[in-house]
Amino acid sequence: MSRSEFDGLRRFAMHGLAVRGAFVSLDETWQSIRLRNLAPLPAQQLLGEALAASALMASQIKVDGRVSVQLQGGKTLKLLMAECTSEGGQRGVLSCDDSLSDDWTLADVDRDSLLTITIENARAERYQGIVELKGNTLAEALTGYFTHSEQLDTRLWLAADNDRAAGLIVQRLPGRTAEDPDGWNRVVHLAETVTAEELLGLRSEALAGRLFAEEALTWEPQKRLCFRCPCSRERVAEVLMALGEEALENELEGDEVITVDCEFCNERYSFDPVDLKLLFA
Ligand SMILES: [Zn+2]
Repeated sequence: MSRSEFDGLRRFAMHGLAVRGAFVSLDETWQSIRLRNLAPLPAQQLLGEALAASALMASQIKVDGRVSVQLQGGKTLKLLMAECTSEGGQRGVLSCDDSLSDDWTLADVDRDSLLTITIENARAERYQGIVELKGNTLAEALTGYFTHSEQLDTRLWLAADNDRAAGLIVQRLPGRTAEDPDGWNRVVHLAETVTAEELLGLRSEALAGRLFAEEALTWEPQKRLCFRCPCSRERVAEVLMALGEEALENELEGDEVITVDCEFCNERYSFDPVDLKLLFA
């Protein structure tokens, strides 16, 4: 578990407004995932922002489960996936062209690429929203997703560098008559003044004081986040068993060992012929 005071998420509600939100800051969690996904900085920053976004989105849903943000299908950015569970476990994977220039942005990703948001509950039931990738930043692309999927009015702001990833989400609650009808627009207008430096450098109370000085916020306790990969030898064995003994024997020649590498945490699982015999015994 991370010990950094910057590694966590804090939810808040705004008194008198039908608005709730959360700040997230990833420090050691981001380092654990970044160092497993070495790539040019602009692509890493996008992964950091996606991790912050998945944590913020997971904080706003009621179900136990996981939220993942995935970008797929480009030539320069082949795959980016970031995930957060309701327990605060995060992992991510990044596959991109190694020769990306320093000024590469999301706007350079092929326009037929897709942005996929997956919400999976504890019973492994999935809700999946897929939209075309639009906008110059991940936050803009996600705003497009929220609009497209007709969810609650939601806006978020994201930032990442080599040291940290961070973000802010605000959401207008349904079915509540706000005492202040212009409150939502005011909150969005105020939040829009946030800079990447502030997101990455300030703790949540200080940042809220800077952005929402006139609003009364009710805070929930900080929720810890950490890097965690749920892969295990048992899960890999289940996949191998699903492939079937015959298919695996055709893969094996002589005394070869089947190895399966987890793309999230780089853990290697090896199964020799004796292991395989035991699996199917
Ligand atoms: Zn793993």
